Amino acid sequence: MDKKAKKKLCMICGIVEVETTSICKACSEKIRQEAVGEWDRIKSEAEKEIKKQGVPPQE
Ligand SMILES: [Zn+2]
Repeated sequence: MDKKAKKKLCMICGIVEVETTSICKACSEKIRQEAVGEWDRIKSEAEKEIKKQGVPPQE
């Protein structure tokens, strides 16, 4: 018997079933890591920009 219960699927991948959250564990972990990576990129770029402005141009 195939009882079709209302299963919620992960809103990111749409494959993994989730119960209490809307995003599965793998996707939430991925998003978290991407957010960290993105933040690192933004931060290092901002630091580069600050250094560029802090250093007076040669010539
Ligand atoms: Zn997922």
